[in-house]
Amino acid sequence: MSEAAQIKKTDRIAMQEKGTISIHTENIFPIIKKFLYSDHEIFLRELIANAVDATQKIRRLSSLGEYSGELGETRVEVSFDEKKKTITISDSGLGMTAEEIKKYINQIAFSGATEFVEKFKDAEDAKDIIGKFGLGFYSAFMVADNVEIDTLSYQEGAEAANWICDGSTEFEIKEGTRKERGTTITLHINKDSKEFLNQQRIQGILDKYAKFLPVEIKFGEKDESVEDGEDKDGKPKQKTIKVDNIINNTSPLWTKSPTDLKDEDYLAFYKELYPFSEDPLFWIHLNVDYPFELTGILYFPKIKNDFEVQKNKIQLYSRQVFITDEVKDVVPEFLMMLHGVIDSPDIPLNVSRSYLQSDGNVKKINSYITKKVAEKLGQLFKKERESYESKWDDIGLFVKYGMISEEKFYDKAKDFALVKNTEGKYFTLDEYTSHIATNQTDKDENKVWLYSTDVAQQDAFISAANDKAYDVIVFDSPIDSHFINNIEQKLEKTQIKRVDSENVDKLIDKDETKELVLSDEEKEKVKGIFDNAIGDQNFTVAVEPLAPEDAPVTVTMPEFMRRMKDMQATGGGGGFNMFGSMPDNYNVTVNGNHKLAAKILKSRGDDRKEGFAKQAFHLAMLSQGLLTGKDLTEFIKRSTEILGE
Ligand code: ADP
Ligand code: MG
Repeated sequence: MSEAAQIKKTDRIAMQEKGTISIHTENIFPIIKKFLYSDHEIFLRELIANAVDATQKIRRLSSLGEYSGELGETRVEVSFDEKKKTITISDSGLGMTAEEIKKYINQIAFSGATEFVEKFKDAEDAKDIIGKFGLGFYSAFMVADNVEIDTLSYQEGAEAANWICDGSTEFEIKEGTRKERGTTITLHINKDSKEFLNQQRIQGILDKYAKFLPVEIKFGEKDESVEDGEDKDGKPKQKTIKVDNIINNTSPLWTKSPTDLKDEDYLAFYKELYPFSEDPLFWIHLNVDYPFELTGILYFPKIKNDFEVQKNKIQLYSRQVFITDEVKDVVPEFLMMLHGVIDSPDIPLNVSRSYLQSDGNVKKINSYITKKVAEKLGQLFKKERESYESKWDDIGLFVKYGMISEEKFYDKAKDFALVKNTEGKYFTLDEYTSHIATNQTDKDENKVWLYSTDVAQQDAFISAANDKAYDVIVFDSPIDSHFINNIEQKLEKTQIKRVDSENVDKLIDKDETKELVLSDEEKEKVKGIFDNAIGDQNFTVAVEPLAPEDAPVTVTMPEFMRRMKDMQATGGGGGFNMFGSMPDNYNVTVNGNHKLAAKILKSRGDDRKEGFAKQAFHLAMLSQGLLTGKDLTEFIKRSTEILGE
């Protein structure tokens, strides 16, 4: 019989005043400890969460009139004693009777623990599981040899109880001495966990998990300077006094009603969350209570093209207890770039990742957030288009990312996704299609969108396009190659081409045939001369009838090939890695109607002919930013010689 199965048999545990729990495994805590090894610090989160629960329960009982005693100061206090090697968590919550300790601490925990061991023997993310099985309290044994409970229940006539357990399955319970309602948990820290007997360490854990708990958490004291009368010149005097150090903000912004909040409040809260960040662009206050409960604030940060740095900026809370900043399964992937907080008691935070992914609530939350974000953007676009446009460079990245990765988001975002042309004008996709319809429709009725990834480098091509009154879009972020693919598939009869992917005359094929002034024989000759001059198989030469005033030679990389490369460079592109070793292939278009073609044919000797051809080819390369190294040096040398001739 497996160990787990043996444990299962003992689910029902007999309890006595001083008792032993009959579990076949002598001591389950070593097993729990092993599972939880990497994250010992959460013991504090669990114990404080219990103390907060107990406090909120007594408050509720009081407001319901079920408890008529004085509520008093309902703070949770955390303290430690380095000499005695103890950490204590003390609350004035509802307390427990001896019976309740046995019921809630012993029984549930042990049955929870056996189930836990059985289910998650091999789980890697056991730390997420603790609470689910009522093991929260027992996480104390990760760091303590002995754990003690001193408690007095709020119930009339209740007697104080003291429980102590050394982490084996034995416990001792006796009459306690506590006079005030509430519970104190004392941990006798084990020798491997001395790190926790440290002010900064504890403060750090509190900052991480307890910052927004709904009950005040006191940890030690701090100095505060206060006015202390006047000095002899009548100026106010200051003195330093000790005050309680309250580490949390009990009513964080997301718990308040949006109607009571101003922009400053949201900006201030953002600063509280991310002290060193630039102001966010805008935000969404989330607030649902059906079919799941969720509140939160999502901020849109200034993103630019920085994919990596931004992740893990959304914090997940469950009733104001910090759970994690890995929100991967709760927030749609494309929204991971957002910042802020989400608080939901309906997210099953204490279970494994794989469970999260299939959880119905999580899916609903996911699509709710997507919907809200789309709504907010749509609203901004409609109501404040100008300001929306000014933010586009920042938000464009994740709108595009969302459109690519989520069909549902695409359907909404297609109405407020923008493209910007080289003149800095913004258009929606539909607006852009109409904008270029008259002049940029090819012979097959395709609308041809032209774009530039680098307006400085592709200037020659942009001007050539502008001369034909073609419009050029700027697509210069790393996500654009994916975005272009995406919208090209979605938009009907639309082709999207980089402005330098072909000679301007051929970018938009309008079926206007031009006459070539060269004879067929001359054309072949010119092609041969260029082939020899270039001497590189990756450059395919063609002599074309272009306008005499167009460039004599143009070097272009076909759209399809370049896009593959771009997508590869930004990662993904879904299985296009087979193009990994693809060499750069270029088309060289020689303008047969330019006077240079005739001049080359007329010049004497092959050397001279090829010299001209090479010079013209290198000029074209130069205008594309492709001429480097030895070729560039050679080109400059030759140009200088020509100047001297
Ligand atoms: P969970 O909090 O998930 O129920 P725990 O193991 O953390 O599991 O706690 C078990 C139970 O012990 C709690 O549900 C509560 O009834 C009781 N308990 C723990 N700590 C306190 C406390 N500080 N005050 C009152 N009751 C407590
Ligand atoms: Mg708990």
